[in-house]
This record gives sequence, structure tokens and C-alpha cells, in this order.
Amino acid sequence: MALAPVKSEPRTEVLEGYFRKYPETPREIVLKADLLGLGHWFSDAALHATAGTLVKSYRLFSYDLMPMSDMKRKESRKAPEDFIILGGRYGLRPVAIQTTLAANSPYVIDVVEGRLVLTSEGEVICEVRYPVAPKYYEKSFEDGTAYHEIVAFGSFVTAFRTCQYWGPDEECRFCDINENARQMKQSQDFTFTAPIKPVDYVHEAAKSVAAEIKQREGYSAPHYYILTGGTILNKLHGKTENEFYAEYVQALRTSGPRVHVELQTNAKPLAELKWLQQQGLNGHHSNMEVWDRRLFEWMNPGKNRRVGYDNWVKWMCDSVEVFGEGNVNPNFVGGIEMSRPYGFETVEEAVASTTEGLEFMMSHGVTPRFNQWRREPNSDLAKQAEQPSIPLDYYIQLMRNRWEIWKKYRLPLRYGRVGLNSGSGRLAASHGTYDDYIMLMEDAYPPGIVDLINQYSTPYENLPYGSTGPGLRR
Ligand code: SF4
Repeated sequence: MALAPVKSEPRTEVLEGYFRKYPETPREIVLKADLLGLGHWFSDAALHATAGTLVKSYRLFSYDLMPMSDMKRKESRKAPEDFIILGGRYGLRPVAIQTTLAANSPYVIDVVEGRLVLTSEGEVICEVRYPVAPKYYEKSFEDGTAYHEIVAFGSFVTAFRTCQYWGPDEECRFCDINENARQMKQSQDFTFTAPIKPVDYVHEAAKSVAAEIKQREGYSAPHYYILTGGTILNKLHGKTENEFYAEYVQALRTSGPRVHVELQTNAKPLAELKWLQQQGLNGHHSNMEVWDRRLFEWMNPGKNRRVGYDNWVKWMCDSVEVFGEGNVNPNFVGGIEMSRPYGFETVEEAVASTTEGLEFMMSHGVTPRFNQWRREPNSDLAKQAEQPSIPLDYYIQLMRNRWEIWKKYRLPLRYGRVGLNSGSGRLAASHGTYDDYIMLMEDAYPPGIVDLINQYSTPYENLPYGSTGPGLRR
């Protein structure tokens, strides 16, 4: 379902209203949540300036508010995986934003007076940096498969690109994994569209990542992989889900020194988690997606039928026993609590429900992540009902509560890890504001972060002059 153009008061006025309403909340959080909620668009000049950037991977879901078929300038193969906002009229500290394409967004990245900037209705908000592509992005296998379509941004491997939860009675309702795989194939712009990634390709690409990290950092720094993919209900190529993913765990763990591998799948009983740990796994994330029991059962029909709410929560907590605190970070799709038609109707109810989950999980050593819901048009949720953007109050209040609860338990966090993505990996995840909130409130930026970001960004100044005239907006 196509989204209607977002029409409202100037976005800077909306932002400033939230700054006044939540003076304790870092302004970066408000803007980032809005950029992820409404998406953003690129002027011709800003799209031209993406040359050399770490391109958007479509690694799992599309994370776009529009289908690939509507991208007439091939934005899907030019836009960066994420970008960094900083400085500008609000003096922002750097935060990374996962690119969320939306032609109707009030936010446009543009080139103004030779500098790459974020604008809204022609007003410049702040500076923008595109992360430079790692060197391994230039490499291909003999059959033409690009290394970066096997391992995205040096840390993400989707081993199985589809899910055996199939159709509206089984697929999680927010998820567009199967539709995303289909649109990638139809676009004919990707070098690898088979559902299963060859294990030897994963090993080889990961070896290049390890070598590049050593070269960038000057030593073999620890680095982390998220290994993921669709659910395997029955056997896949003769292997159970655990056997299938264990091969990739070993391929990654043996790709270089100090490699940590975390797997995200359905929740698993203790004995299976222990077996996976014996295969070399370092962490496990059983992505629960939403805390409320009624919404969990409706939102995740396949997961509910196979595992069920009570087992999910118990096994998620049990996984801390196996992998330790800091290594159990289940994902939640932040905002689906308020999706139509069955979500909570008020911000208060939605925040209260998920805050209860935060308290419970952190008290058991689990550190949930909140990947902000992108309302992908090919997901079942977006097909079922019009899905307006989620109020910023929800994100601000929930992330503030997460910080408050985290202060009580002080669990290990994920930001600041070495990598090859934004800010050489040192920034918090680009897909949500959960760790940014803590990083900003605790002033936990590593020294010299802006220099590091600039060092690993594509040229962002002295660009050919370009401006977002109305003719460039669609
Ligand atoms: S388990 Fe759910 S979220 Fe994960 S790939 Fe399958 S349908 Fe999507």
C-alpha cells in the first residue's frame, strides 16, 4: 500500500516542539526516531555523491517505506546502508541512521553550497556523512557474486534468505523477508539471489573482513557477526535448523582471530543452546518482536504455534545461563505495539507494556534491542491496514525508560564495537535509538570519534553544487 505524502507543519517546528516537551532527551534521539519513522529521500546531487559509499544491503528485510519497483533512479543500489548526522543548527553529536527510503518523506539529503546535508522543506538541519565502502566490497567470486552480498558491512550474514514460515498464517506480520527476496530477484541488480549462501563463500568473505579490520586498526581487534536467516521448520538440504546454522558458526569462527558469532533464531530449549555453544556460538538472540502476550500471539503466528509465549520467555532467559550477560539481545520491532488493527491505542499503554518487559528481561540478564518499525509496504501489517507513523512520544518515552532500567542493572552493551560500518563501527546501531540513548546520556563516545568518522567517510564537502528544487521531489 503506497503511503500518502506526509503533510504537516514544518518538520523543524515539530522537532523543536519535542525538544521543548522532552528537554532531558538528547535531540539526536528525537531526530533519529523521526528519520527512521518517516524515512528520507535523496536529491539527485546527494544520490550522485554516494559513489564509493557502503551500499544498502537489503540483508534481511527491505527497511524501506516504498517498494524497490518504485525507485526510478536505482536508489536501492546507490543509497548507503546508513549515514551519519552531526553538527548543524542543533549542534548534534554523531549518530548513525539506517537508510529508510521514502519518496514522500519531509526529509531530504541534499548538497547545499558544496556540502552534504540533511534538509527539510529546504531548511538545512545538519551535516551528513556517508560511510566509505570497505575494501572487501570490491571483491567478487569467480561466478560474479560480490563478497558484500555474502557478508554485509563486515558483520551481518543472512545464511538463509527466505523463511519457512510462509503466508499470513505463519509469517510474522511486520516481516517482509520473503517479499524482499522476491523484489531483489526481480530487480536483477543483485549478484546473489539464491536462498542459501554457500558456507565456503561465507568463510572466504569473512577472512577478507578479518584482514581488513587488522589493517584498519593495526591489530586483530575483536569483531562481531550477527548470523541470521529464516526459520527452518523441516530439514533444509538434509539438515535441521541447528545443524544448518552451526556450519556457518564454524565458518565464521575460523575466519580469523577474535571473531564472535551471535545467532538469531526462534527461541530454543537449553539443551539445543548448549549444543550450539559447543559448535562455537558466542551469543543467541531469540527475537521476540513484541512483549505483550496477546500481540505476540497475533503478530508472530508461526513462532507462537511452534514455541509459544511462555516457552519463548523462559528459553530466552535460559540462554543467559549458556552465553552470559551481554550476549543475549533479543530484537523487538519498536512500534508494532501500536500497529493497526489490534495494537494499543495509546502511547501510555504501549510504553507501559513494553517497559514491563524491559524490567523483566533486564532483571534476568537479557538486554533487548529495539529495531524501529519501518512499516514496509510488502509486509502483512501494511497490506492489512493503513499504518500511520508511530508517535515520537512512544520512542522517546520507551528509550528513556530503557536507559533508566539499564542504569539499575548495568548490563554490558553493544555500542563501541570495532567494525567496518559507520564510524568504523564505534557508533550505536543505526536501526534504532536504544543504545544511542545510553551512549548520549552517559557521554560514552570514544575520543576522536568525529575524526574517525571523517576518515572513513566518502567526500562530503566541495561537492558539485546541487539543490533540491521541487522538480527533484516525487
Ligand atoms: S521468523 Fe518471522 S521475522 Fe523471522 S524471517 Fe520468519 S517470518 Fe520473518
